[in-house]
Amino acid sequence: MESEDQVMGDSDVAITNGHSEGLRLDNDDTASESAFHEESEPSVIEDTIALLRVRRGLLPTGCCYDDRMKLHMNADFSPNTHHPEDPRRIHEIFKAFKKMGLVYTGPESELPRIMKDCPTKYMWRIPARPATREEICLAHSPEHLAWVESLDTISTAELRELTRRFDQGRESLYVGSMSYPAALLSVGGAIDTCKCVVTEQVKNAFAVIRPPGHHAEFDQPMGFCFFNNVPVAIRVCQQDYPEQCRKVLVLDWDVHHGNGTQNIFYQDPNVLYISIHVYQNGMFYPGKPPNPMTPDGGIEHCGTGPGLGKNINIGWHDQGMGDGEYMAAFQKIVMPIAKEFNPDLVVISAGFDAAEGDELGGCFVTPACYAHMTHMLMSLADGKVAVCLEGGYNLQAISSSAVAVARTLMGEPPPKLALPKINKEAARTLAKVQAYHAPYWECMRSGIVDVPDVQSLNANRLHDVIRNAQRQVMQSKHGMIPLYIQRELISKSFENQVLVTPNLHNAQKIIVIIHDPPQLLAQLDVIDTTVDAHNSWVVDGVMEYIDWAVSENFGVMDINVPAYVTHEEDIDSYIPEFNEKEIQEQIQSLVCYLWDNFLQLYETDEIILLGVGNAYLGVKVLLINRDCREKIAGIVNFVTGNLRPVKSDTDNELSSWYKENSRVYVAGDHACWSDPDLTRKVHRRRFGTVVRSKMFGLNHMMREHAEEAHEWIKRRVTNAEGDTTEEEKS
Ligand SMILES: [Zn+2]
Repeated sequence: MESEDQVMGDSDVAITNGHSEGLRLDNDDTASESAFHEESEPSVIEDTIALLRVRRGLLPTGCCYDDRMKLHMNADFSPNTHHPEDPRRIHEIFKAFKKMGLVYTGPESELPRIMKDCPTKYMWRIPARPATREEICLAHSPEHLAWVESLDTISTAELRELTRRFDQGRESLYVGSMSYPAALLSVGGAIDTCKCVVTEQVKNAFAVIRPPGHHAEFDQPMGFCFFNNVPVAIRVCQQDYPEQCRKVLVLDWDVHHGNGTQNIFYQDPNVLYISIHVYQNGMFYPGKPPNPMTPDGGIEHCGTGPGLGKNINIGWHDQGMGDGEYMAAFQKIVMPIAKEFNPDLVVISAGFDAAEGDELGGCFVTPACYAHMTHMLMSLADGKVAVCLEGGYNLQAISSSAVAVARTLMGEPPPKLALPKINKEAARTLAKVQAYHAPYWECMRSGIVDVPDVQSLNANRLHDVIRNAQRQVMQSKHGMIPLYIQRELISKSFENQVLVTPNLHNAQKIIVIIHDPPQLLAQLDVIDTTVDAHNSWVVDGVMEYIDWAVSENFGVMDINVPAYVTHEEDIDSYIPEFNEKEIQEQIQSLVCYLWDNFLQLYETDEIILLGVGNAYLGVKVLLINRDCREKIAGIVNFVTGNLRPVKSDTDNELSSWYKENSRVYVAGDHACWSDPDLTRKVHRRRFGTVVRSKMFGLNHMMREHAEEAHEWIKRRVTNAEGDTTEEEKS
């Protein structure tokens, strides 16, 4: 069983020796310096030791590895039993460490001298040793320990039978005759790695261990895991070093939720567990627990009892996440909370199955991103970071990711990182995590409103207040009044949202303005980030168009489309929701209702549609769902968001008609201008006559193009002299 990568002996002794030799040498060097000139000899030594303790950067990075952990393998050697949790995983990582020069590979005799000259040049080896029964039982039941131990004694046939029984569904486990000793070494390696970090024999460390641990529950094995390495190691450190290691942060970036680690610490106020994983509404492994009372990886599970707030699940809605989402999770959630928690030790449950190239994970985290995440965590706990390997099944991806993490631990600056835009659904997930944890963490509170509390004070939503004010202004200026809308058909959010001039029903020409609510700008108070009314503005570019339309004798229908359709039951603390489908359905039923009950009944065939912002969706759904072209004289849209195609399966002419009868102003910073292919696409008929604005933002665009748009609209309708568009064109 002896092999080149196996280190025997007691870890504490091995490392303490190396360390004190290093100290002695440094002492010799500094003793001659003038600063210590008049000091007596013993005092100089003490000072130097103190100096090295203070300068933690001179301590080496530790690395735990042992070939014997490769011996855990499948007892079922029949074909098609290949398992992703393959013994080569740790071998490949350690090989990559050697290849990149992170681990010493030269003659043993040279090593002491090299380590004296430059203690941080290579990772210092931390030997793995089997964990003791007492250690295991700090995080597992004795029955569970006995079960794993029994694998040591049963026959190969029985092992195969066990594997066949377990290697599917939630349990997902394979067993072999060497599984028990390998699992003991894996836990023991994690324990000594954490201990070396806590006791400052190394500045930080990487444990290249298997089998992994984070799925193993208190009383059962699961998901390739027998013993939960990280919780056992943490409990041992807390027990042995209660002063130096009281509070521990576990950051689990394995693509799967670490159900075992979560549940072992679920009530523990001194262990903050943060997991970033794919959740897929509970469908992604490990999925829903058999007992519905057991918490899963959902973001609503925040811990219980004294551990409330100490369990944070950042569960992505889907696979496909990458550097943008992971860095955002770190910047918005992980680091603020971790700093507030202020741990004594950070343990990374480092699965590399969210890495680019891992097929099980289906995510795209690059080695550079792993380096940055490591680097950020190194700013905590005096840099005491212990990395413990969990999953990760693409040998190339786990090796390059592990190398990036190890280099960062050793002091290399993390590589440059170009951040892609964050997935919108992922951004909402982060906002929800913030809302769930606002009650427990000061840093999560900013921007979160306790809605039930506010509503108990008879508060109004600002969009209602603003719409009310607009209604009064338009009433006093132009005599505009709310249009009666039959409530059963349309959401309450649209009440008061449709205002019309009194001449609408017999106007010769009509402008229908479908627009987003006005823009709100607020300068937050610098001290407590509150919003003050005197430092906030409402910017409403639509009002100017209404004034102009009234002055030109248009009948005006003003439709304000709320950004979010609120429901009576919306009383949760602020949790941002956006349901494109629901908004689309509501807008469609509203504009069709207005068309059927009002606009199509009027005599005029000179209706202008003006779409502003996201609400221009209303223009699209009206054109597609109602045969209204005869009565529409022209369309002007101002667009900063999605460009919406107007086309119909049953009406081939619709897109051409739209192109001929529209002006679609698109913001100068719109994504469609950044890519020649997209720009070409935008000029297709279905998007209308697209005009690139040089302005950014709806209000600036509306101001910039007001005169031009007014002139264009006037040319589309019969003017005072009786000229028509058709005549002008001919
Ligand atoms: Zn995993």
